[in-house]
Order: sequence, then structure tokens, then C-alpha cells
Amino acid sequence: SNVHLPITIPQITALSRTIFQMSVNQTLDESTVLFGDIAEYTGFQNADPCISRGCKWSKHKKGKVYVPYSISNQYSIREKQIIQGALYSFANTTCIRFIPRYRQQDYLHIKSESGCYSFVGRRGGEQVVSLQRFGCVYHGVVQHELLHALGFKHEQTRSDRDVHVRILYQNIIHGMEHNFQKFQTNNLGTPYDYNSIMHYGRYAFSKNTEPTIIPIPNNNVAIGRATEMSRVDFQRVNKLYCG
Ligand SMILES: [Zn+2]
Repeated sequence: SNVHLPITIPQITALSRTIFQMSVNQTLDESTVLFGDIAEYTGFQNADPCISRGCKWSKHKKGKVYVPYSISNQYSIREKQIIQGALYSFANTTCIRFIPRYRQQDYLHIKSESGCYSFVGRRGGEQVVSLQRFGCVYHGVVQHELLHALGFKHEQTRSDRDVHVRILYQNIIHGMEHNFQKFQTNNLGTPYDYNSIMHYGRYAFSKNTEPTIIPIPNNNVAIGRATEMSRVDFQRVNKLYCG
């Protein structure tokens, strides 16, 4: 291929690991900006049904899936390193290759708007992935938004979620109930994963400091505490794109 990565994968891995360790104390639970981070609800749906309507990124010869991106100059060098560390974290164990955009028509434009959000799947043309400075530029948050852009939804909206969690609607902020809507997702034969980077925390959208999501049957299991993609998260990317 004619793609030139700025640094080698082993360097990237080291960089990514360093960044992760530096940001490990920032959990998604504390990043309230993450909540409600899907740019549009269009009946789009763990892999969204839109996958069958062409919102996947296309596979090239030799099985690689290239996803072009550009990064806004709003970011500091340090912030760009964090974003790039997350982009390259996919390269070790999946066929996804985020590549700097040259002239490709469809691409991710990563910029700092208000909050952290992404569309679900490929939209065609330029599509914004918003990573607000001072709130969203953390390894796990970047991975989370990239998974949306690849076509994945939140774990607790999976079709089989009611077997694994109970939603406490009485504690949800009025008007935010849609964030807990269940979808007919394609779960790709993978287990429900409390440790997925796509799983909300126990108190997401709580209006009263009471939980809004509790794991069943064991209420004490940790949920939504991931700071990076889980093994299952990577497995899903492989099942959807790299098989
Ligand atoms: Zn999200």
C-alpha cells in the first residue's frame, strides 16, 4: 500500500500504553460529557442494523479496512498524541487502519466541539467526531467514539440487555430516557460485557444520585468502569470487519 504511517506500530503501542497509564484515573463515569454522545438517532442501531444498509467502512485488498481521518489544529501536540494513540490501538489486533486523509471522500474529521460524540457508522463525506478539549481527550473516550464511528452502539442498549442489567427509569433525568432505549442489535455472537468501553456507568443520567443501571443478578458487579477497550470490544471489531 502507499500508506505511510508517521511512526511504526511498536512505537505506537508503547505510546498508547504510556498514554493509557497516564489517563487511567479518568474513568468514563466521571466524563459526564460522554453521556448522550451519539450524534443522531435515526433508528440506527452493539453493531447497528445500519450495517446492512451500507454504513460499514469498506474492505480493501488484503483484508485491511482503511478509515481516513483528519485532526483539527485546535489540539495541542500532547492531545494529538493521545488521539493518535487511540487510533493506532486498533492496528495491533484488528484489520482497521486509521490513515491520515489524502483525498478520500468519506472520512472522520476529529475536532473539538461541544462534548464528545460521533455518528454511528460511516455517513458518507466528512463526518465529525467531536472530542472536546479538556473533557474528552482521553484514550478510552477516543476509542469509545471511534467504535461509534465504526458502527457500534452502547452495550446497555443491546437486544439482550434485560437479562444482564435492569434499567431504573424512576432515577433517570426527565427527557434522557432515550439513552436507555433497547435496539435490535447484531451482537455478533459475543457475550454481554460489563467491562466494554461502550457500557455506561451505574449512575449515568441519574437525577437523584441513585443508580440508573444495575447488573443482575449480582448487583455488586462493577459496570461501566472501563478505561480502555476490552478484549470483547476488539473481538467485535474483528467479527464485524476482519472475518
Ligand atoms: Zn457513546
